[in-house]
Amino acid sequence: MYEFEYQRPASRADAKAAATGDARYLAGGQSLIQAMRLRLSQSERLVDLGGIADLKGIKAENNGVTIGAMATHASVASNADVKRVIPALAGLAGGIGDPMVRNMGTLGGSIANADPAACYPAAVLALGATIHTDRRTIAADDFFTGLYETALQPGELITSVSFPAAQKAAYVKYKQAASRFALIGVFVAQSSGGVRVAVTGAKSHAFRAKAIEDALSKSFIAAAAKAVKMPVDDINADLHGSAEYRAAMISVMASRAVAAALAR
Ligand SMILES: Cc1cc2nc3c(=O)[nH]c(=O)nc-3n(C[C@H](O)[C@H](O)[C@H](O)COP(=O)(O)OP(=O)(O)OC[C@H]3O[C@@H](n4cnc5c(N)ncnc54)[C@H](O)[C@@H]3O)c2cc1C
Repeated sequence: MYEFEYQRPASRADAKAAATGDARYLAGGQSLIQAMRLRLSQSERLVDLGGIADLKGIKAENNGVTIGAMATHASVASNADVKRVIPALAGLAGGIGDPMVRNMGTLGGSIANADPAACYPAAVLALGATIHTDRRTIAADDFFTGLYETALQPGELITSVSFPAAQKAAYVKYKQAASRFALIGVFVAQSSGGVRVAVTGAKSHAFRAKAIEDALSKSFIAAAAKAVKMPVDDINADLHGSAEYRAAMISVMASRAVAAALAR
């Protein structure tokens, strides 16, 4: 690990003031500290967000939920409002990693990190969430831009994410057995605005599966999703699964998500 300065501000304003140069925000450290230990990441200063109470809140509003960036996965999974308004989101959070990861990892850290196999990006895209930062709001479709890349600018702080409720929604992932990240994860959401289907684990970043959205818009049944043959272009391949296998699993996980959504 390279040397760095550590600050723990008590307010958003102080955090913003500290986030100059190549400073990085520290949430639960579940990705950042590992990257620093491996010397894959170097920053002159870490700005720990853990002391800022108003980044942790979760509230139901405007037929959805708004979740603070520093809300842990465990707090989202157990929150009564999230469970009532978007049970699929609570379920997703409860299926992340293991208890230690869920008690330390955060919503803001997860989407800022934009791991290609992370679960939350699928929910953000499928539910059409809005990301609130200290500077602006960013639509879900504009947020994830590449491998570990997002629309965030240097020093930009995610403050919360607003998730609209869906009429029917579910997230199903086929886990990478060692890490519990998604080998393939699919979030399906049906609302008055139509059907949105988002996939994680398959490409450099989470994306919407338009072909499955089109099929489910005509008929919201599991068989319709399963019948879609996803193209293998740009699909990841590694020792855990070939591109062909992953492409096939997208349709399978989507069909299971539809079945789960219809069973709620
Ligand atoms: C063993 C293990 C298993 C895991 N399994 C899963 C899984 O199944 N599914 C899944 O989705 N994830 C999984 N994760 C990832 C985990 O969910 C964390 O959310 C993720 O690692 C980010 O961690 P963090 O919230 O502690 O953020 P940190 O590691 O502290 O930060 C990550 C990045 O986000 C930036 N950042 C943090 N907060 C903000 C903010 N508010 N505004 C702007 N930038 C910010 C940081 O500067 C850093 O670049 C796993 C992690 C581990 C270690």
